[in-house]
Amino acid sequence: MKNFAYSRAETVEGAVGLIARNANAKFLGGGTNLVDLMRENIEQPDAVIDVTHLSVGGIDGGIIELPDGGLLIRASVRNSAVANNPLVRERYPVLSQAILFGASGQIRNMATTGGNLMQRTRCHYFYDGTARCNKRTPDSGCDAIGGFNRMHAILGASDSCIATHPSDMCVALAALDATVHVQGARGERTIPFAAFHRLPGNTPHEETNLRSDELITAIHLPPLAFAKNSRYRKIRDRASYAFALVSVAVALEIFAGTITGVRLALGGVAHKPWRAYKAENTMLRAKASRETFERAAKAELSDARGYGHNNFKIELAKRTIVSVVTELAEAGGVR
Ligand code: SF4
Repeated sequence: MKNFAYSRAETVEGAVGLIARNANAKFLGGGTNLVDLMRENIEQPDAVIDVTHLSVGGIDGGIIELPDGGLLIRASVRNSAVANNPLVRERYPVLSQAILFGASGQIRNMATTGGNLMQRTRCHYFYDGTARCNKRTPDSGCDAIGGFNRMHAILGASDSCIATHPSDMCVALAALDATVHVQGARGERTIPFAAFHRLPGNTPHEETNLRSDELITAIHLPPLAFAKNSRYRKIRDRASYAFALVSVAVALEIFAGTITGVRLALGGVAHKPWRAYKAENTMLRAKASRETFERAAKAELSDARGYGHNNFKIELAKRTIVSVVTELAEAGGVR
């Protein structure tokens, strides 16, 4: 690993000031993933700013209940603290479940809310310095297309990149319409979760719409009464410590047999957490039946494309959507 200068920031303003004083510096975030990338010489920063100790919420004191029933989660709150928070478990169980399906207990105790958003794809060609990868080296090619691509994207991919986003937590945040609060040298702003991560297009190295001098400070969860009836399902090769082949986050409300509220997002299928708007539009105000759920899944995957080894994911995604929504409807989606 290359030598680098190390600084520790104690405040958001201090961190933003440090980044502003370091030409060509940027916040990389996703600390555990960043260390992996530095070990493999994929990332070779000249300077690393440690934001672990920022005064933006501490380890578990940064989950704030808002007057409208929503929550504000500070960026430095550990994943395990979010998953185990009583308000999160009661109001947004899909978020708690998604976090607990990710990584390992040890990693969840270290990983932060802000870092989770910034982790990089686990495409093995991205980590292999001998492979062609447009994300690592723009315009060099993509060895996953035509290579071993079992874990890769089936929605929203491009001829430049077919990588997937690895986070479970972000799939739940996409379904819940979260907002990302950020701060930079030019001040504070908010980014809707759906606009935070990017599809690859022809610039797969640009993964988020966070500016290079901006730091994530918090995630806002808006109130959503029917999110109490929500669930996360993750399909993976082994029961623990594996990334999703397909995952589904869903919140559902049914009144008198009709679907009156639905939020649905998919993980493991695209370069960003995939909000399933086509499925939602198919289900909303329709009869809560298996036939409706199957139509919704078919609509969402209508533009899906496999790249060989991952063709199976298209049917797997449809079946997982139908299975989870059916289970949730039977379990208590009725108000
Ligand atoms: Fe690189 Fe994306 Fe291709 Fe993987 S899929 S090799 S990350 S360009």
